[in-house]
Amino acid sequence: MTEPAATNRCCRSCGGRDLSVFLSLGDMPLSDGFLAPEELAQTEPRFPLDVAFCPSCALVQILETVPPEQLFGADYPYFSSFTDTLLEHSAANVAARIEERRLDGNSLIVELASNDGYLLQFYRQRGIPVLGIDPAAGPVAAARARGIETLQAFFGRDLAQQLAAAGRRADVIHANNVLAHVVDTRGFVAGIGALLKEDGVAVIEAPYVKELIDQGQFDTIYHEHLCYFSVTALAGLFQRQALSLNRVEALAIHGGSLRLFVERRERADRSVDEYLRAERASGLDRLDYYADFSSRVMRIRSELVTLLQRLKRGGARIAGYGAAAKGTIMLNFAGIGGELIDWVADRNVHKQGRTVPGVRLPIVAPARILEEQPDYLLILPWNFKEEIMQQQAEYRRKGGRFIVPVPQPLII
Ligand SMILES: [Zn+2]
Repeated sequence: MTEPAATNRCCRSCGGRDLSVFLSLGDMPLSDGFLAPEELAQTEPRFPLDVAFCPSCALVQILETVPPEQLFGADYPYFSSFTDTLLEHSAANVAARIEERRLDGNSLIVELASNDGYLLQFYRQRGIPVLGIDPAAGPVAAARARGIETLQAFFGRDLAQQLAAAGRRADVIHANNVLAHVVDTRGFVAGIGALLKEDGVAVIEAPYVKELIDQGQFDTIYHEHLCYFSVTALAGLFQRQALSLNRVEALAIHGGSLRLFVERRERADRSVDEYLRAERASGLDRLDYYADFSSRVMRIRSELVTLLQRLKRGGARIAGYGAAAKGTIMLNFAGIGGELIDWVADRNVHKQGRTVPGVRLPIVAPARILEEQPDYLLILPWNFKEEIMQQQAEYRRKGGRFIVPVPQPLII
């Protein structure tokens, strides 16, 4: 089942050949390759995780490309509707777009990587036609079950042209946390251009590379995430596909993200220029900015391991919360397994009963937290830490403590 990963020597955006590696995380398992009990005898595939900067267009990217069929197979376990924060965020996004673009029953909204319809449902509730596109069978079935028309496919130039030829061009295209995932970055962006109506807008969300670097969020680097965007890199990527980045908003979600408004017509507002200037001023568009990242990452790792070992020696019982992809990277990169952590709790019933890739910690239902009352809970999806600590108020009331790994390991 394992195809070899391809190692990229050309920039995914501009084709430049001077990629400069500034961080190597080593051979990591697939971050979402959660194993069922009957799969534990298998050897898990591992792939190198090297992060590079392109001096020509400023795009940060990983070199390896794991075949998407392997990354996003039929049993891809991520269902967007499992996080309350994401649902609230999506509802607000939809309400703003409906108002701003005066959308109605004659409009068409397309979401790329629509998952289980977590976002499109809010348009549908208002009677606005929607079309989801997603390659993963499980989430697609869930979307269809709630009445959201969804194509099970990878989006790119060809599919966009087919839809446009069939008269299904979009007033709004949503693409949240997917641009970084696509193998053919340029084809995906060209597809957005082909699918948009003349005056349509693509509203794209992607994590901001500045937050990744400044906050030491190295655990957001995994094989699914091929690119890590700055506004400088994005503006060039869109421009080369005859699109214009016209507005940028800062979002707090996922540890700091960008919301990008992309149209055919060039009419950039002040926000774009402000970001470009700030990135030039801080040096985010140059390799120097990334030079000390590797040593900072190594420091976070050693501080976290030292902290857990000290607690463990003192007799503490430690568990993890949230079997998120970033948890796989954090646990594997730091080498944190069963000798330090008993299990990882997760609300997603599709993950319960499976194990975390690589370190093979069992994933259990959150009810286990109050049953066993471990002394510490290591919060792996730190981007949802407020929500998680709220949900676990009872655990805290009974004396439980939380550990958050980044930007630096801390007990709270
Ligand atoms: Zn480039």
